[in-house]
Amino acid sequence: MKSLWNDAEAATFGGPLGARVYTSRLLGRDKSLVLHGGGNTSVKIEETTLFGEREDVLYVKGSGWDLETIEPAGFAPVKLDYVRRLASLPSLSDPQMVNELATHTLRAGAPAPSVETILHALLPHAYVDHTHADAVLSVSNSPDGDKRVRDIYGDRVVVIPYIMPGFDLAAYCAREFPRQKTKNTVGMVLLSHGVFSFAAGARESYELMIELVSMAEKYLAARKAWSVGLPPQAASPFRREEAARLRSDASRAAGFPMLCRCNDAPHFLGFARHPEVSRISQGGPATPDHVIRTKPRPMLGRNVEDFALQYKEYFSVNAKKAKQSKTMLDPAPRMALDPDFGLAAFGRTAKEVGIVEDLYEHTVEVILRAEALGGWRALPDRDTFDVEYWDLEQAKLRAAGNPPPFAGEIAIVTGAASGIGRACVEALFKRGAAVVGLDRNPAIESLWKRPDFLGLVCDLTQEKEITTKIDQTVKHFGGVDMLVLNAGIFPASQAVQDIGADLWARAMAVNVQANLMVMQACHALLKLAPRGGRIVVIGSKNVPAPGPGAGAYSASKAAMNQLARVSALEWGKDGIRINSIHPNAVYDTALWTDELLASRASAYGLTVEQYKKNNLLKTEVSSKDVAELAAEMCGPLFAKTTAAQVPVDGGNERVV
Ligand SMILES: [Zn+2]
Repeated sequence: MKSLWNDAEAATFGGPLGARVYTSRLLGRDKSLVLHGGGNTSVKIEETTLFGEREDVLYVKGSGWDLETIEPAGFAPVKLDYVRRLASLPSLSDPQMVNELATHTLRAGAPAPSVETILHALLPHAYVDHTHADAVLSVSNSPDGDKRVRDIYGDRVVVIPYIMPGFDLAAYCAREFPRQKTKNTVGMVLLSHGVFSFAAGARESYELMIELVSMAEKYLAARKAWSVGLPPQAASPFRREEAARLRSDASRAAGFPMLCRCNDAPHFLGFARHPEVSRISQGGPATPDHVIRTKPRPMLGRNVEDFALQYKEYFSVNAKKAKQSKTMLDPAPRMALDPDFGLAAFGRTAKEVGIVEDLYEHTVEVILRAEALGGWRALPDRDTFDVEYWDLEQAKLRAAGNPPPFAGEIAIVTGAASGIGRACVEALFKRGAAVVGLDRNPAIESLWKRPDFLGLVCDLTQEKEITTKIDQTVKHFGGVDMLVLNAGIFPASQAVQDIGADLWARAMAVNVQANLMVMQACHALLKLAPRGGRIVVIGSKNVPAPGPGAGAYSASKAAMNQLARVSALEWGKDGIRINSIHPNAVYDTALWTDELLASRASAYGLTVEQYKKNNLLKTEVSSKDVAELAAEMCGPLFAKTTAAQVPVDGGNERVV
């Protein structure tokens, strides 16, 4: 492991807190040190109060901040002397600790200080760095881990047995640290948890962390326990219905819809097919704080019911031993190891799914390395349980707030790169859905750069392409709950006697048959949607009120409208509802250039402004208006409605 310190970069961060921000980010950049909010850092700074008195302030990482992206505002300043004294108390409950830290924080609006604040306070050095380094965990979670740690570091580190983070750990360290400390001490290893380094300067403390972790890496390498690649695996053909069923089962057990990503990358597939997977995967997490994201262990295979039963058993056994009474969290898995899918990761948001994948990717390495040292030794369930059900850990999850209405659900929008389709994607994001945008335009792939979006180039008239893209959708997000059928073409105006066969066929292929093929490909998936499948058809005012010159367009839209009605008849029993929206005169799309608008307006003897609002309500209809209704039709407001046709046209005399 190499130091990432860079003088020029460091110079852009001023003062002792700036240096703390910089080296915290360096730690955060290396995923084998900390992941997703893991680890914490601090600095002790002497400051002057408004009364001119000197005061020691501990700036410690605030809860909810990630080391990689932390800012000065991410550190909570607390009164050092007071917090240090807390460690000498015989006991301190969690609510008391939270209260004492909050009432001794020196900046209004600062984040809640880390649950490790007291421990940071009692270490005497100015800079303190704490990580959950993979290499150190591999060594400490193997047979005779504590002896190995002492062999590697001698008296350079203080070794602390596993104790749950928080007051108990701090109080233990307050007694044990001075006892073990020598003039050579530069760090502290918390067995089955992580490692600390400390020094007078930011760079020194950071580089000591790199040095300590490198020593563990070298130790592993010398014992052929560093490179632990698994034999290459041939991926299984992806069966999307089976994946959607797994996600559906997990969502049912959770009591809410979850996304699910199947990742058959070589390390996951290799691990899922490892001959000893049932032993090595079932121990527990690499470091305790993973448990709030991953649950104590992955499900093996796909039997969610069995997993839920085992989880309930784990809860009832360990809850009895807990100090306070506990309420069981949902018993659904957050990870499954399957010989075909590799790792299936579950979560209410795409971000959560990504976190689970990242945590387990590192866990696999930690486990395999510990195995190479003689055997993976996880913490007992009881310790894992205490962290999983620790209120201060659950508070981190609660900080995310109430989930939006479509959290954990997946929507496909066709023709998503522009106009109404693009607005539909935004409207669905706003309600918390993960969205797959299909479009012929390659821009779709990079239109939104966010984990809850997947943009796929697709010619919807090609059945094979549809199949491939729906497979990708299910592999990436776990299923299809909502379908917004928006893609369509408006062929050049032609009188009926002049409509060419090609133009007619093209209108039917895109406006009707493509939708039919997408619906057919998604039917089995919509049936498995945890809250029932929903389809919204973006129709047209031309269905109830066709226009001259638009024969092919109007006929194709009417055909689609009829297909939607028949689908409502046939698929109602599958819990799938299908409704249509008939927009008219939506001018904020690529179709309508300023020139075209001006020429159409003048043809009617109207100004552009009058032309845009030429409806009963004298209002302009935007893509967003249509999209909001489309999204709303997928939501609870329309839960009892199917086969409806709703105009979004400002009121049209011919439709009324
Ligand atoms: Zn920790």
